[in-house]
Amino acid sequence: MTMYNLKDKVAIVTGAGGKNGIGRAVADRLAQEGAKIIVTDIVEVPYSDGDWEGLSSVVEEITSRGGEAAKLLVDVTDASSIENAIDKALNIFNRVDILVNNAGAAASKDRVSIVDLEEEDWDRVIDINLKGVFLFSKLFAKELIAQKEGGKIINIASIAGKKGSATFGAYCASKGGVIRLTESIALDLAKYNINVNSICPSWVDTERVDVYVEQLYENDLSHEQKRDLHLSNVESMIPLGRYAAPEDIAKMVAFLSSEESSFVTGASLNVSGGLIA
Ligand code: NAD
Repeated sequence: MTMYNLKDKVAIVTGAGGKNGIGRAVADRLAQEGAKIIVTDIVEVPYSDGDWEGLSSVVEEITSRGGEAAKLLVDVTDASSIENAIDKALNIFNRVDILVNNAGAAASKDRVSIVDLEEEDWDRVIDINLKGVFLFSKLFAKELIAQKEGGKIINIASIAGKKGSATFGAYCASKGGVIRLTESIALDLAKYNINVNSICPSWVDTERVDVYVEQLYENDLSHEQKRDLHLSNVESMIPLGRYAAPEDIAKMVAFLSSEESSFVTGASLNVSGGLIA
């Protein structure tokens, strides 16, 4: 469904190579709204699944529907990699308008109590989730300022950035940092007509869940049983009674990318089915 006119706009989406990821849903939705899309990820295929070819599949999906898209490999923790990607995006589509900072560190050894949290695991999560948003936003904003036509920066934070959780210290700190950074960047860039907002999802059914459930339930259940148990546990906590789909987040990204949100900046908008309301 298309609701917003993003024709002639160019969007860069980070962390967009997963088949069931938020990044892919965002890239698809913005393309349906008419934007030209640069899909990026740190690797071509972040999660293998049958004949899924990661970034190439996302590009193929968009172009087969008549849209325009290209792929680039980018490490969001590396300023020169980001600079290189923005230069290439400008060569391909001549301009940039929308940045979606979606890349995120996979749930890993950081999901432990603070007393067991190793410094290297803390650093990995903060580097990808928070420093990556700083670096990409900084370099992208410089280009938007030079273009003199405003723009949009949308950061995928989390409700974990609004409330602490046991064993989520690094993740919650990184996402809380993204929310405060969003507010500060919004104030820096308001005079250039650049809107900067963050989205705070609750649980979203992506490949991340498959990794997480294996850590959560160390028992004899099959992967599918662990997954079903986790989904029903989460659904019972969500006031609207269901797990979020990646498309739920993409809808909010489309709104924040469009003229319809021209007076929204510095906000952190929950897309959480009422969780933490
Ligand atoms: P995902 O793991 O599918 O997507 C994250 C992507 O980031 C992956 O494709 C990965 O390869 C990429 N990435 C990792 N390190 C990178 C780096 N250094 N440079 C560039 N790319 C890198 O997960 P997702 O569930 O689609 O999550 C997307 C975003 O939404 C993340 O920021 C995540 O924290 C946030 N989020 C997810 C949920 C959820 O329940 N799935 C909830 C709230 C917020």
